[in-house]
Amino acid sequence: MNPPLLEINQLRLGFDSPSGFVPIVHGVELNVHPGEIVGILGESGSGKTVTLKALFGVTAEELVIESGSINFEGTELLKLNEKERQALRGSVLSYIPQNASDSLTPHQTIKQQLKEIGQVHGLSLDQSQISDKLKAVGIDKPEAVLSMYPHQLSGGLAQRVIIAMSTFLTPKLTIADEPTSAIDASLKSTVLSLLKDINEKDQTAMVIITHDFEVVSEICDRVYVMYKGLMMESGPASELLKSPRHPYTQGLMRCVQSLTDGSATFYAMKSAEAAPASQTQCPFAPRCPKAFHDCFSELPPLKSINPFRNLRCHLEGGAEYE
Ligand code: SF4
Repeated sequence: MNPPLLEINQLRLGFDSPSGFVPIVHGVELNVHPGEIVGILGESGSGKTVTLKALFGVTAEELVIESGSINFEGTELLKLNEKERQALRGSVLSYIPQNASDSLTPHQTIKQQLKEIGQVHGLSLDQSQISDKLKAVGIDKPEAVLSMYPHQLSGGLAQRVIIAMSTFLTPKLTIADEPTSAIDASLKSTVLSLLKDINEKDQTAMVIITHDFEVVSEICDRVYVMYKGLMMESGPASELLKSPRHPYTQGLMRCVQSLTDGSATFYAMKSAEAAPASQTQCPFAPRCPKAFHDCFSELPPLKSINPFRNLRCHLEGGAEYE
């Protein structure tokens, strides 16, 4: 396999408080290879989005990166200044935000916004080049859309436009943050096929941040499961979804299955504690049906259970999934 395009090592970020640093991402490890689609799966608040936003130096104001490394093709992103980061944004690294409509500039037409992206990177694009970019995301009548303002676009159209903008300069890596959460179920497969097409045609590697197993199963090659700022399990998407080994992944899957298999009762995990995870126990221990003594006294390390899969659990090889 080619060397990774992106390698995140031991990334810790959080916020300073009067009583010291409070981490919310506790030493995350992640890699993405060229042309790969990698899913990051987890509930809200697991640290998925802040981890990936750190690539762009875009963290909420009060958040600080305490330690770690984000290496992209040999460049340490955490050492770049704002100007150097700006040069990478869009052309090499791009971000598809969660809510397309809110991310467009309301007082500019789509054409003005697309032109501006080219200008920032020193490109002067003519009308037909811009139209081609919209056609590439399945917009049949690009001229009509180019003259529209964001409020005139339907949700599906806005999502296509934002995908066109984010992949306009054929970046090497695109981060898509919950790309299907703000659109109708009927548009979900269209957007996923579109992302897959872009990945195959341009060989753009992608990281898809999601809480949706269907998204992972439809387009991801590999998946990481994140909980309370830690990677709990990772591996090839098809294998991990068929045979999850971590009790947290298993719990999430049971919840989804009980909603769709016609069960009379819905499966629900114990609710999560609001407090940040402690580093002296498994963060999932208070919710885990398999927890035992060691789980409350020691944080399990992330270990390989085969050449392709990693697991953070004190149970040797993880739990059986019934
Ligand atoms: Fe459950 Fe213990 Fe494994 Fe954590 S380490 S997931 S508490 S069995």
